[in-house]
Amino acid sequence: MVRISKVAVRVACLALLTFSNAYAFQILPKISDVDRKLSSLSADNDWLGQWFVDGVLSMLKSPVHEAITLAAVECDAGAGNEPDCVTIDSVKKHRTLLYGVRWPDDPPFQLSASNPPRKVKCDVRVTLRSTAQPQCWKGLFDDAGKRAAEISNRSPGKPAFGPGDYLLYRSHYGDLQFMHAMGAYDGEPAGVTRQRMKMWARFLWGVAIKELPTDHYLRDLGVDELATYFPGDMTATNLLATGIVEVRKNLDVVALGAMLHMIQDSYSQAHAERAAEPGGVCPGTDVGRPGKIIRFHSYARQRGELHDYEDTFDALRLHSMQSSPSVVETSRSLVALARRSATWTDAEKVFDCLLELTNPDEPAQAGRFAGP
Ligand SMILES: [Zn+2]
Repeated sequence: MVRISKVAVRVACLALLTFSNAYAFQILPKISDVDRKLSSLSADNDWLGQWFVDGVLSMLKSPVHEAITLAAVECDAGAGNEPDCVTIDSVKKHRTLLYGVRWPDDPPFQLSASNPPRKVKCDVRVTLRSTAQPQCWKGLFDDAGKRAAEISNRSPGKPAFGPGDYLLYRSHYGDLQFMHAMGAYDGEPAGVTRQRMKMWARFLWGVAIKELPTDHYLRDLGVDELATYFPGDMTATNLLATGIVEVRKNLDVVALGAMLHMIQDSYSQAHAERAAEPGGVCPGTDVGRPGKIIRFHSYARQRGELHDYEDTFDALRLHSMQSSPSVVETSRSLVALARRSATWTDAEKVFDCLLELTNPDEPAQAGRFAGP
């Protein structure tokens, strides 16, 4: 649900440096101190800069996905109080799941050594993640936004980035925006976005229930069109845990987190527009039935600040108090389904229902979030 303002205007608050429980909701779950150690070894070793990045980017400041997920897995704070679920103890306890939930926003990847980014602070020896190389990350993110705008003006009707481009570019501004329940470009038919989301769900489900091997190339897994998106020598381990060794023994949990991220995003009005929920359950399941998706949005012409409001705690509170199934209830259902290792055949029924469209031809657009 969390995307980032194209214009990061919020000023870092030094109070973050001395956060107490009152500020606990603002902390960024970190997988461990590995990022900190890597940061100290890289040229981009500005710790204050790291806090600055944490403070200015709403994605890192307002951990909405974390609140939803923790509310779904164990916290009983109740509808409207999900932010109370984000405590230091719960973040530590569920750090691998939260790493997965965070992954689509901040996927770790290797910089090209032969063609390094022309950014002063990028160190190609260190896996790129916002926490490990904050200034490089921010520089590349801004570059992705600028280039995406140029490319979509020049050649509309297709994704700005694809295979061969950095994961960060593809996930936020390119062909992998289905990971966030969004169209890859203005005009993409809803049926196409949905198909990509189902492909991603099928892959992640396979990893989550330990059915798919995590050491085979993605292109050889036989998962729909996954090979088109990842044609190279890349395994699930490479994709989900480049440079982050600690999560590799629990990739099933990471995959569950990334899957939750996508479905959670589909409940954000900035990502998709849903009809009112009809009541009842998804056919053949005990999972609550949400409103159909009327259209997916695309980010290209959205104004970052308008988009971001929908990804805040206020929007989450309003939603969870007034909707059933809420995004928390749906997340809880999916976690329960994965924990009992439901087969894809059973899980697919749920995804078909959660991603039901009113019209597959409906083109993606900025919605009411359009802006200059
Ligand atoms: Zn997202």
